[in-house]
Order: sequence, then structure tokens, then C-alpha cells
Amino acid sequence: MLARAHDPDAWRTLLATAVTDSAELLRRLELSQHPLAATLQPGPSFPVRVPEPYLACMRRGDPEDPLLRQVLALADEAHPVPGFSTDPLGEAGQNPLPGLLHKYRGRALLIAAGGCAVHCRYCFRRHFPYGENNPGRRGLEAALGYLAAHPDIREVILSGGDPLMLDDEALGWLVQRLEQIPHLTRLRIHTRFPVVIPQRLTPQLVALLAGTRLRSVVVLHVNHARELGTGVTAAVLPLRQAGIPLFNQAVLLKGVNDDLATLIDLCEQSFDAGIQPYYLHLLDRVAGAAHFEVPVAEARRLYEDLASGLPGYLLPRLVRERAGAPGKVVLAPRWEAL
Ligand SMILES: *Cc1c(COP(=O)(O)O)cnc(C)c1O
Ligand code: SF4
Repeated sequence: MLARAHDPDAWRTLLATAVTDSAELLRRLELSQHPLAATLQPGPSFPVRVPEPYLACMRRGDPEDPLLRQVLALADEAHPVPGFSTDPLGEAGQNPLPGLLHKYRGRALLIAAGGCAVHCRYCFRRHFPYGENNPGRRGLEAALGYLAAHPDIREVILSGGDPLMLDDEALGWLVQRLEQIPHLTRLRIHTRFPVVIPQRLTPQLVALLAGTRLRSVVVLHVNHARELGTGVTAAVLPLRQAGIPLFNQAVLLKGVNDDLATLIDLCEQSFDAGIQPYYLHLLDRVAGAAHFEVPVAEARRLYEDLASGLPGYLLPRLVRERAGAPGKVVLAPRWEAL
């Protein structure tokens, strides 16, 4: 049963009642008898987690559903594939403190919470040792000390996991502490919550982001236009009305969004919802996600078609992460030899 939308704690209920079993997921989608049921991975080490509002956007009886594909644990995940590792970004050696990543100039990424509202099977953090990096108050104090001691850091990125796993009170505490660090000017939140549990965007949260002296920016993670379905557009409206810029980063995923029409729809419909396309990521080569990979040559071809099919302001940058690089590696568009 869905909690009422105006209940400020509805999101907690939706988090607690998420579906955590692939077989149950297929049953709910009327796919139990489909051959897909024989390709599941029993008891995956990265558990299944699908909240009800996201499930409600999936099509009954469609084994190819692009939303289902992102969350279904297939037996394929357990097959080792050369080149796919548990720490593809080499992050293990990059955190100066547990829960803080300072890889790029001017920006530091704070892992504010260990968990997520949904478990995306392609996630590059699926093997990340959150146990050691879930900072808690004491860890956050240490991270705040680091930020205060590094005046070149202008922007703090709250990430995770998903930082909105923190409740409004805990976030309020953190934001208030960040505000006291004079050289910080921007607060960025990377979250998938609005897509999977739109109820998380409580009036209190919007007030927090709108009221801080820091310039708030919210980066969503939408991979398919159908994810904007029930409730997302309405849920982000108060953020838009508060003047908070909304961006989208997507991951290019085989079987989910690796065709031109789907990508065009994603960019156009994100924009219609007030969300500006920002990045289109190539998959990080993380163990368990090989079946999502789109070969680079194909990604380029798709991107070139996308670039000619969209106005420039709707075109995300095609990027990939590389261990040790000073920023995301931009594959396109880029400097053209004349
Ligand atoms: C992606 C990322 C950022 C932010 O990069 P932008 O290009 O500014 O969006 C910052 N720090 C880390 C560690 C990242 O992975
Ligand atoms: S919400 Fe983001 S961090 Fe969490 S599993 Fe999905 S992609 Fe990974």
C-alpha cells in the first residue's frame, strides 16, 4: 500500500517496503512464467532494492522493460569478465578521509550516506566499502575539518550512496556546518531519489536547499524518459520554483537507452521537466555490470547522431571516468583539429 503523498514521512515507508527479491519483482510484473525467470541470480551479494513508485513505472508483462533491466539481478553478474574490476576508478586510494573524495580541483565529494533508495545493477559503487566509508557524525566532523583546511575547495558534492538517505534533520545539520566554512560557495546534491521515491522531496528539504547561503544545485540520475513518469516532474517543481538548477546525468546502458530515439526522448523530456542534460556516462567497468556495456565505437556513433538530432543546449557531454584523471574525461564534444 502506498503512503499518502502529503505525508512528510511517506518516503521512509516507501524505502522500508521496497521490493528486495527478483522473483517477487517478476511476479509483480506478471513475468514469473517468462524464460527471464530462469536467468536470475539467487541471493546476489549486492541485494535487489526497488521502491514501489519505481516499480509502478514499469510495464506489466514486458521482459525488456528498460526500468526493470536496471534493477534485475541476472546470473550474468556473477560471471567474471576480463577488464571489469571491483574498484574501476581506483578510488580505494583516493580518499584522504573515510567518506571524502578529493580528486578534482575545487570540488570535493562527500559520501554523506552509505545506502541508496534503489540498487542499480550497473553501479560503479556496487562493491564500494560503505561500511568503512559511512562516516557518521564523527566521520563528518573530520571531513568538515578537511574542507575547512582546504580553501581551494569551492563546491561540496553530497553523494553516496544517496545523500538523501539522510533525513531532513541530519541534512540540515550538515548544511548548516558547511555554511560556516567561508570559502565554500556551492552545495551540490547527486541523487536518484526523485526518480524512485519522489516523495523524498519534502517541503522541508526544498526549504533547506533554497534557504542556505550556498548556491544549491541538484544533479538527478535519469536514464530513460519513462523514469520521469509518475510524479517526478511534479516533485521537482518546487525546486525549480525556488530557482535551484537541476541537471541530469545518465549512463549509457545496453538494453536500456542505447538507441537514438530513446536518448532523444530522454534529453527532450528531461528538459520539459526542467532538468538540463549534463552528462552521458560510459559505463564504468565494474565487475558484475559487463552485460550493460555499449562498445565505445557504438557510443560515438550514437552520440554523433544525437548531436545532429538535438539543439546544442540539450546535448549532454559524453564522458567516462578514468582512474587518476583530473576530471571526467570528455569524449565528445571536444576540440576538433581544423
Ligand atoms: C564526478 C565527480 C566530481 C564532479 O565532477 P563534475 O565534472 O564537476 O560534475 C567530483 N569529484 C569526484 C570524485 C567525482 O567522481
Ligand atoms: S542510486 Fe546511484 S549510487 Fe545508488 S546504486 Fe544507483 S547508481 Fe549507484
